[in-house]
Amino acid sequence: MSCCLSITLSKSKMLSACMRQVVRRYHNCTGKRKYLSDMFYSPAKSKHKEEYSCKSHRLLLANDIIYPCHSGAYYLLPFGQRVLEKLTRVIDDELQAIGGQKISMPTLAPSKLWRKTERWNTPELFKLKDRAETDYCLGPTHEELITDYVRQLHPLSYKRLPLMLYQITRKFRDEMAPKYGLLRGREFEMKDMYTFDATEENARVTYEIVCNAYDKIFKRLNLPFVKVAGATGNIGGKLSHEYHLPADIGQDQLLICEKCDFGLNKELVGAGDDEFGKHCHLKEINGIEVGHAFLLGTKYSEVLDACFVDKDGNTQVTKMGCFGLGVTRIIQASVEVLSVDDNIRWPEVIAPYHVCIIPQKEGYMADKFFSMANDLYDKLDSLPNLHDEILLDDRTQLTVGKRIKKANEMGLPYIVVVGRKALEEIPLFEVIETSEKRTFFASAEQVIEHMKNIQTV
Ligand SMILES: [Zn+2]
Repeated sequence: MSCCLSITLSKSKMLSACMRQVVRRYHNCTGKRKYLSDMFYSPAKSKHKEEYSCKSHRLLLANDIIYPCHSGAYYLLPFGQRVLEKLTRVIDDELQAIGGQKISMPTLAPSKLWRKTERWNTPELFKLKDRAETDYCLGPTHEELITDYVRQLHPLSYKRLPLMLYQITRKFRDEMAPKYGLLRGREFEMKDMYTFDATEENARVTYEIVCNAYDKIFKRLNLPFVKVAGATGNIGGKLSHEYHLPADIGQDQLLICEKCDFGLNKELVGAGDDEFGKHCHLKEINGIEVGHAFLLGTKYSEVLDACFVDKDGNTQVTKMGCFGLGVTRIIQASVEVLSVDDNIRWPEVIAPYHVCIIPQKEGYMADKFFSMANDLYDKLDSLPNLHDEILLDDRTQLTVGKRIKKANEMGLPYIVVVGRKALEEIPLFEVIETSEKRTFFASAEQVIEHMKNIQTV
């Protein structure tokens, strides 16, 4: 009798485990629920030999956000790719709101144009030849290609200006010393916008508009950024600003006024205009450069002949601006400045997932906990802002504590534990807000009410 019973029990246990597998597979096939055990992971303590050089580099490697490929180049793993795509959406939103139009230009750029602008001998260019021995470079920036394109629009009416074209693509730079993971790589994702105006006055207005869009991007990401006057360097031009995230490992020294919002790159000191010194109280900080704006004037449009036709029918040279954002660099720089202890902190809107649901460890009433976790998943996933933002950590062989630790390390902003209180008459769930370090119990309705205002992109 007792023997029979135990066989029946273990059979039913096996069956239900089996059913869970089937349910899981089915949901994955239909792309419905995201279970952590089905997500791609590098095997524990995977074999790369890369030594980290700063906190964010270590956290991105340790949490399978990136994986080293070769010097200054990385695989972006699924979580990293999701962050990149979300950041791209934020940038697209703000640049398209000011009239920016997205394009994509070839990475392979012919030397002919780079010789015309006298930039072919830049040491950081990656150069290569095709089978006919023609020289090319892998574009680190695209002033030459975009300006040559605008040249071909002739006759371009003044009515069509300003033109604001941008792309988010891979860029290449033969860095002498690649370092700090995504912060200083040889291949990276960059947003570059180029603007064309009829007059310098208009170009300055456009410059301000794009800088305002940059401010909005960094504010949406809730990042502590500073905007400083910058050097024009190899790009050239008349006016320039840099966007930095203040961090000890930053490669740039900045002088920031403690009284007003004036700041400049230390490179500029002694470059002529030191007027600011009289009123400002400057302190020195290090910054990671994440964005750069240049008012170019006619530096490229003159040489490459990018013209427009004014209202009197005369042909004139366009006045240009160019605006970069280091997209993969923003990802790591954010982790560098926001993370606490051993836990990644993302700008919340671009976190890889927003909510991680953790059901009770396997054992007593395991199926009940698991199905309640699934129900909660479906309810949260049906909120417009949280669709595809929920992860269920189904590794129920692990304790709840271990799984909370992992979700916290990965920087998932909200954790919901389906634990013993879920069996009470009104089921209660434990909500952990990782960035606020706040924990509370709430019913399913309250959890939904609380989470329907989470900002996502
Ligand atoms: Zn000041």
